[in-house]
Amino acid sequence: MHVNCIRKHIFAAMQQFDVIIIGGGAAGFFTAINLAEKNASLKIAILERGKEVLSKVRISGGGRCNVTHACFDANELTGYYPRGNKELRGPFHTFATADTVTWFQRHGVLIKKEDDGRMFPQANTSQAVIDCFIRLQQSLRIQLFTGENVLSIQHNADKWQLQTTQHIFAAKEICIATGSSPAMWKLLQQLGHTIVPPVPSLFTFNCKDERIIHLPGVATNVSVHIKDTRLRSSGPLLITHWGMSGPAVLKLSAWGARILHDMNYAFTLIVNWLHDEDAESILQKLKSLKEQQAQRIIIVKSPFTIPNRLWESLVQAASINKQTRWADVSKTQLQQLAQQLCQCSFNIKGKSTFKEEFVTAGGIDLKEIDFKTMRSKVLPSVYFAGEVLNIDAITGGFNFQNAWTGGYIAALAMDESMLI
Ligand SMILES: Cc1cc2nc3c(=O)[nH]c(=O)nc-3n(C[C@H](O)[C@H](O)[C@H](O)COP(=O)(O)OP(=O)(O)OC[C@H]3O[C@@H](n4cnc5c(N)ncnc54)[C@H](O)[C@@H]3O)c2cc1C
Repeated sequence: MHVNCIRKHIFAAMQQFDVIIIGGGAAGFFTAINLAEKNASLKIAILERGKEVLSKVRISGGGRCNVTHACFDANELTGYYPRGNKELRGPFHTFATADTVTWFQRHGVLIKKEDDGRMFPQANTSQAVIDCFIRLQQSLRIQLFTGENVLSIQHNADKWQLQTTQHIFAAKEICIATGSSPAMWKLLQQLGHTIVPPVPSLFTFNCKDERIIHLPGVATNVSVHIKDTRLRSSGPLLITHWGMSGPAVLKLSAWGARILHDMNYAFTLIVNWLHDEDAESILQKLKSLKEQQAQRIIIVKSPFTIPNRLWESLVQAASINKQTRWADVSKTQLQQLAQQLCQCSFNIKGKSTFKEEFVTAGGIDLKEIDFKTMRSKVLPSVYFAGEVLNIDAITGGFNFQNAWTGGYIAALAMDESMLI
C-alpha cells in the first residue's frame, strides 16, 4: 500500500476527539463533565483502563465518599496539603469547598457536614456521587471507553495520538487524570516531565509496647513529635491493636511522608499525653497531689484528662506499684511519672494502611504545571488533574477537593483554548 494510503487507513481506524481525558476516576469525570457543560459542541472522551470507572470513589470514606471538608477559607484550606500547599492557593480562589458543595447540590447530590468537618453526600453512600457522574456523562454525551489502557502518547501533526491496548485515539487536547499510576508516570517521564518519586502517605504507626499493647480502643488528645526531626502534630490519638492511629498520627504520616520513608519507618515517637503541658509544671502538680491526696492510692483515679486505663499503665511504667499511696511515692518516681505523661517515648517499627483513606505522595513535579490552567509547561495542550500531580493532603476530604479543583480549572482552560 502507498504510504499516504496507509496513513489514511490508520487515520480512519483512529477514533478522533476534540479532548480526551485519560483516567475514569474522580478527577477525570469532573474534568470531562465541566468541560462538556461549558461547551456542548465538543467531542469529549474518557479512556479508562479498568472495567469499572470511579472505583476509588466507590470505596472512599468507608463507602460514603468524603467529598470535601468544611473549611471555607482558601488560604486556610491550603494548610491541609503537605504537598501542593503553595501551588493550590490560586486554584482554591477559583474553585474550593463552597463551590464543591454548590456544584454537587446543583447536580442533585445534597451534601451534609459532620461534627469533625468532613462532608458527605446526604444519602450517606458514594453511589450518590457515582450515579450523578454517570448520569451527567451520558446526558452530556461524553464517550466513555473502558478496558482502554493508554500505553503510549505521541504528538503528531498538532494532535495527540494515544495508543491503548485495543485502539488508537487522537485529540487536539488531552487531560491526564490517571491518579497514582507508576506506568503513566514512566510514560510522562519519557515525554520530558519530572516525576517526584512516589512514597505512601496517610498511614498508621506500628508499635509493640507494653504500655499500650493492652489498650486498643483508648483515645485521647495529645501532642506528638518525631525525635530528631521538626515533625510535630496534635489532636486525638487512638491506640490500636498494631500501634497508634487517629488524626495526630495520620497528620504526622502525611507531613512526614518522605522523611519517614527515608527512615525506613523506624523512629522514636514522643507523645505528650497531656497535650501542651510541660513536664516541669506537671511535676509541680504531682508534688501538690502528693500533699493534698496523701492517703489515696495513686493508680485508682487519673487526676488528668487521660483515660483511667492509660493512667494506670503510665503509673506502672514509672515504677510505681499498684498499692502505692501518694504519701509514699518518691521524688524520682514522680519525675518518672511526669516524664511518662509529657515525654513518653515509643519505638515505632513499620506502618499499616489506614483503611478509610490512603494516598501517595509524589507525582508530576509541580514546577512543571501552570496552576492558572493546569496546563503542562513541558508538553503542548496537555493538562493534569488529581493525584497524578505531586499533591496530597491529610485525611478528611481534602484529596477529593484537589481532584475537583484541578478538574474544574483544567476544564475552564481547555474550553477557552478550544475557542481560539
Ligand atoms: C480506600 C481509599 C479511601 C479514600 N477515601 C477518600 C475520601 O473519603 N476522601 C478523599 O478526599 N479522598 C479519599 N481517598 C483518596 C482519593 O480516592 C484520591 O485522592 C482520588 O481518588 C484521586 O482521584 P484521581 O481521579 O486523581 O485518581 P483515581 O481515582 O485513582 O483515578 C485514576 C483512574 O485512572 C485510571 N488509569 C490509570 N492509568 C491509566 C491508563 N494508562 N489508561 C487509562 N486509564 C488509566 C485508573 O484505573 C483510575 O480509574 C481515598 C483513597 C483510598 C484508596
